[in-house]
Amino acid sequence: MARYDFDIGILGGGAAGLTVAAGAARAGAKTLLVEKEKKLGGDCLHYGCVPSKTLIRTAHIFHLMKNARQFGLPEISLPPVDYTQVKKRIQSVIDIIQKHDSAEQFCKLGAKVEFGQAAFTDEHAIELNGKRYSAKTWVISTGSSPAIPPIEGLDKTLYITNKEIYSLEQLPQSMIILGGGPIGIEFAQAFRRLGTKVSVVERLDRILINDDKDMTGQVLEILQSEGVEFYLGAAVVRVRDLGSEREVVFKMNGEEKSLRAKALLLATGRKANTSGLGLDQIGVRLDKRGLMLDQKLRTTQRHIYGAGDVTGTYQFTHAAGYEGGIVLSNAIFHFPRKVDYTHVPWVTYTDPELASIGMNEQTAKDAGIPCSVWTEQFRDNDRSIAEGEMTGKIKMILDAREKPIGIQILGPQAGDLLNEWVAVMNGGMKLSTLASAVHPYPTLGEINKRVAGRFLSTKLFSETVKRGLKFFFHFKGRACDEQED
Ligand SMILES: Cc1cc2nc3c(=O)[nH]c(=O)nc-3n(C[C@H](O)[C@H](O)[C@H](O)COP(=O)(O)OP(=O)(O)OC[C@H]3O[C@@H](n4cnc5c(N)ncnc54)[C@H](O)[C@@H]3O)c2cc1C
Repeated sequence: MARYDFDIGILGGGAAGLTVAAGAARAGAKTLLVEKEKKLGGDCLHYGCVPSKTLIRTAHIFHLMKNARQFGLPEISLPPVDYTQVKKRIQSVIDIIQKHDSAEQFCKLGAKVEFGQAAFTDEHAIELNGKRYSAKTWVISTGSSPAIPPIEGLDKTLYITNKEIYSLEQLPQSMIILGGGPIGIEFAQAFRRLGTKVSVVERLDRILINDDKDMTGQVLEILQSEGVEFYLGAAVVRVRDLGSEREVVFKMNGEEKSLRAKALLLATGRKANTSGLGLDQIGVRLDKRGLMLDQKLRTTQRHIYGAGDVTGTYQFTHAAGYEGGIVLSNAIFHFPRKVDYTHVPWVTYTDPELASIGMNEQTAKDAGIPCSVWTEQFRDNDRSIAEGEMTGKIKMILDAREKPIGIQILGPQAGDLLNEWVAVMNGGMKLSTLASAVHPYPTLGEINKRVAGRFLSTKLFSETVKRGLKFFFHFKGRACDEQED
């Protein structure tokens, strides 16, 4: 008879927790999954990736409709967007995906699902709805929440975050977004395209700080051309609720400026959900980002693991799933694995998308890694031209041994295009294999082959090779001279 009620207990039913719960239950471990909200799925399904990508798609279609003439179609005059219909579609998408993440599905797999707010009572047990549950191993996967900055007047001002944005009664006429990170930028473009007047206020002098400036600069220009206003290098001084509008006062270039809008959206980062779990009483320590973890994702209590946004590392759904897999391997299969974030990709779902894996030019430079940069433009890709999507480029970063250490793509479907590089980099594939593989024509993906080919052609057409070939062909001169005609 086991000393504990469960082999493994998981706090949080989002991407990370669900990965661990499904794997542990399938492996035959007696599994408890605890979720604070009334539904499984976490932030990604209810307030993050799924609703935001659905909103972005709707905004994209509307944008295309408004630009019908560019595609040889008649110009149409469009009525304003009815946000209740947009919300309806978002909810219908969530509902479909929710079925995969239902408590019934997890019960079928063999996991017990309980809903409620849990807190540790000792290092092996929690209290939940007045009952005690013990487990040999625990996983904390409680995610993250919007970080609310300490701004004067914010406590008396009506603001929204990614949690409230999908339940607004109507499309706001105007919106100020605090924060020029991926969340703020994705919402800025989507709401602008739907018809909202959008202003972004960012503390730094640039947006999307984790990507190369030449790429993010292009994103900035595209959004500006669509009408989004940017206030960069702007330190917010105070905010004020004026009843029907919100006011933001900020300092920029030494001058105080103010903006007013119907809605104020905070997109100023995320904070790990660690409070209320009783972690300090059971010796689980935190650092400034979230749970303090070793490379096997163990907390300072070795039988308690952490995965997902609560770790404060890469706050993406795919990172949460990856970390969940590492925890499963260590805690359930006892096959020791350490985390390695070298090849964690990310995508900002603007139009065009900005996708990245590995190092970019800036991070390679900062790390003192000698590298070369190879680029290919979407305007030279036949499919891009046909699609009317000619903005952007791919950047391939090679180290001194000519191995790819990073890729950045700004362009149509960049996130999907990056997947070929995910395979190349994880599989240690040679660039010559990629460049010689037949890619279907005309596809956007040919840009991957072309950038690899661009590098390889410098080798193929090196002076030594050219000299050898001239000898082979008994060089008789060029067949055509540019001056001829
Ligand atoms: C607007 C937005 C857009 C995003 N878009 C993308 C995207 O396109 N791609 C991408 O990869 N990532 C995206 N993300 C990030 C992604 O949503 C997160 O990285 C992902 O949800 C993290 O998964 P998780 O399991 O760590 O946390 P979550 O999915 O948040 O799950 C944590 C769960 O724990 C529960 N919980 C909290 N406290 C307790 C407690 N005490 N007891 C029990 N349960 C508790 C919560 O209710 C929640 O359900 C986006 C985020 C936002 C905000």
